[in-house]
Formats: sequence, C-alpha cells, structure tokens
Amino acid sequence: MFDYLIVGAGFAGSVLAERLASTCGKSVLLIDRRPHIAGNAYDHYNDDGILVHRYGPHIFHTNSREVFEYLSRFTDWRPYEHHVLASVDGLLLPMPINLDTLNRLYGLNMNSFEAEQFLNSRAEPKEQLKTSEDVIVSKVGRELYNKFFRNYTRKQWAMDPSELDASVTARVPVRTNRDARYFTDTYQAMPLHGFTRMFENMLDHPNIKILLKADYREIAKVISYRNLIYTGRIDEFFDFRFGKLPYRSLEFKHETLNRPVYQPEAVVNYPNEHLYTRVTEFKYLTGQEHPKTSIVYEFPRAEGDPYYPVPRPENYATYKEYQERAAKLSSVHFVGRLATYRYYNMDQVTAQALAQFEKLRKSQRLASVARKAITYAPGADGGARVGGNLPNPSGREDADAA
Ligand SMILES: Cc1cc2nc3c(=O)[nH]c(=O)nc-3n(C[C@H](O)[C@H](O)[C@H](O)COP(=O)(O)OP(=O)(O)OC[C@H]3O[C@@H](n4cnc5c(N)ncnc54)[C@H](O)[C@@H]3O)c2cc1C
Repeated sequence: MFDYLIVGAGFAGSVLAERLASTCGKSVLLIDRRPHIAGNAYDHYNDDGILVHRYGPHIFHTNSREVFEYLSRFTDWRPYEHHVLASVDGLLLPMPINLDTLNRLYGLNMNSFEAEQFLNSRAEPKEQLKTSEDVIVSKVGRELYNKFFRNYTRKQWAMDPSELDASVTARVPVRTNRDARYFTDTYQAMPLHGFTRMFENMLDHPNIKILLKADYREIAKVISYRNLIYTGRIDEFFDFRFGKLPYRSLEFKHETLNRPVYQPEAVVNYPNEHLYTRVTEFKYLTGQEHPKTSIVYEFPRAEGDPYYPVPRPENYATYKEYQERAAKLSSVHFVGRLATYRYYNMDQVTAQALAQFEKLRKSQRLASVARKAITYAPGADGGARVGGNLPNPSGREDADAA
C-alpha cells in the first residue's frame, strides 16, 4: 500500500515524489512507461562516451530563485549561456535577430539607434496581433519574417504562421544591441553531471520506489495506493472520450562524428533548407571534452511522442472539457505539461509541481490521507475506478479524506 502512486518520472512526477517522501514521510511508487527516469530531460552517455540528450537539447534557464535553489540541492551546476545561429542566405547569423544579424545580413555597419530605425521602417504595425505572422511582421517586417521565421514555423508546425495562434511567437525577442544570448534569464546553467544524475539524486530516498517500463494501466490494476498524481496525457487518462488532443512530434536523428567540433555554436537553425529544423552539438551544452562530437537533427512529425500542444482555440476548448472532468476527481492530481496540455519549460514544470505540493500539504487531504486504504484500478471507461471512497471520473466530486 503506497500513499501515492505517481505516474511519470519527469520533472513533475519526480519533484512531487521527492517532496512527499522527504518532507511528509509519504511512501511513493513512481512509475514510468519508458525504461528510464528524467522524462524528456533524460540524458545519457552514448556508445562513444559522449553525454547526449535523447529527446533533443534541454537547456536550463529560469528567473525563479526558488526553483533554482530547490534543484541545486540535487546537483552542482555548470554556468552555460545558450547561443543559436540561423542559416540564412548562405550565412550563419545570430538568433534572436540582433544588431550583428542585421549588419551581417545586409552588409551594413549600423549602430543600435540606426538598427531600431531600420526595423521601424520595415515593421508593419497591426491593430490586433492575432496570429504568429502578425506578431513577427509587426516587429521586423515581411522580408526578415520570410527569411528567418516563416519557413521554420511551417516545418515545425506544418502550418503557416498566419494559421497559428499569436502565442507561439509572442515572446520571440528582436534586439538592436549585440546581446547574442538565446535566453536572458537570471539563472542559466546546466547540471554539472547531467539531468539524469540530478534526478537520481532527487529520487534517492528510502520512501520512493521506482518502477520503469510500467504503464499506469497495468500497474493500477495490481498496486494499492491512496492518492494518484498523474503527469501523463490527460486525454489518455480519460480514454480520449472528448477526442484526442493534438500534438506536434519530433524525430531525433543522433550522430557521432569523428572530429572534435562540428559547428560554431550549440544550435544551428535551418529555416529554409533541409527537412530538419535544427542541429544541436551536445558538447557545447555539457562542456565535455572528447576527440569525437555528437549531434542531433530534429525532424518535425505529425505522429510520435507528444511534444508540442497545437495552440489552436478548438484544442484548448477540448482540453477544457477534460479539465472540468479532472476537477471532479479530488484524489487525482494532474500535473506537468501533458496533464495540463501546455508547453512548459523545465523550470515552469518544477514550479508547478512545487506549488501542487504546497496545495497538497496544506489540504486536509494530506494530513488525513492515511485513514483509509483504497485501491484504484482503471475502469472500463478508461478512468480510475473507485475503490473505497474515491471519486469516479465520470461521477461527481467525492472527498477522499472526508
Ligand atoms: C525537443 C524539446 C526540447 C526542449 N527543450 C527545453 C529546454 O531547452 N529548456 C526547458 O526548460 N525545457 C525544454 N523542453 C521542455 C521540457 O521537456 C519539459 O518542460 C519537461 O519535460 C516537462 O516535464 P514533465 O514531467 O511535465 O513531462 P515529461 O518529461 O514528458 O515526463 C512525463 C513522463 O510521464 C511518462 N508517462 C506518460 N504517460 C504514462 C503512463 N500512462 N504510464 C507511465 N508513464 C507515463 C512519460 O513516459 C514521461 O517520461 C523541451 C521539450 C522538448 C520536446
């Protein structure tokens, strides 16, 4: 009998497992259907001994001191500021667009003030920024939009930016100074020994048991537990009853090359050439020294692991239906990017999990949770079936700790 079954060993599930075990003495079974912990942040040494990120480059950055200090309990850090280049018109130019991008692209020697005027003269102001195209064209004009953004977005989303919600590009910065950092957050660093090692340290507690290659559906039938934290897809939890929430996926092609360096920065974007969107060279991220180098190509796909929620109003409307159903389950907590159908960075998911923990801790539920043993099992309708006094996903709210 576990106090908590936690589904998913990524940031959301692991942070909650650690908090519940180490500060509340709760027993936790943490499961993942993948053969490893750390979710999408999983990194490992490949056959050549190079540390790589299996699911694409993960760069840690945050403005939250609380999140940074919390994670610092489980890892030392390597200071790292991320840099990205874009291959445009045969040049490799800094991304986000900055003063150097403009000067090199147009063979000019502008200062910041002139660059601002340059952009203002090209920008096409819009009254309402409804789409991703509106956002960019209103900042930099159509020519730069076509060179740097349009085709990258079309590859990534298989949709024109004019069909995509403004939120996708809303935070894309354009600079008229020479700041070439990709992120400007207060804390920018990589776990010194990698993400997986950080997760191992986080989960190294006698109250936490880990079961890998284990799907919720199988495990819930045979394990007894009192509360459920679910960080998988919310639509899958409810057997897709309101329809499938659409995601964009990626295929990663990893390669190791027999030379020490492949490209001049960690990431090169290819908006206009090739079927892949970008190439990442891991040694920049990890600081590892090695005579060979490993890179990964990212090919956007319609099918595959769910990575990016497709930001369209009808999808959010479907998510709302799931969310309303989920709200009726007082003993099931939906946390993380898949359970809340949002693209979140690692720090945001960590913050979300810490906030969820505080809610659990404060609620009477956590204090009185041990009162009654309850067994969950997937119901015929795909949700959790009620055992004891737990709520049914298709039913009304039922307080488990009442
Ligand atoms: C290509 C890419 C690059 C990214 N780069 C960055 C970056 O540079 N910086 C950054 O901050 N963020 C980045 N992110 C976002 C980051 O991956 C997420 O913020 C983070 O993974 C979210 O953690 P999570 O625990 O919510 O989800 P996940 O890491 O996806 O963990 C969920 C886990 O649940 C498991 N699971 C799901 N359903 C079940 C089930 N039914 N039974 C058992 N297990 C189940 C899954 O196998 C998975 O391991 C990137 C994401 C992608 C896709």
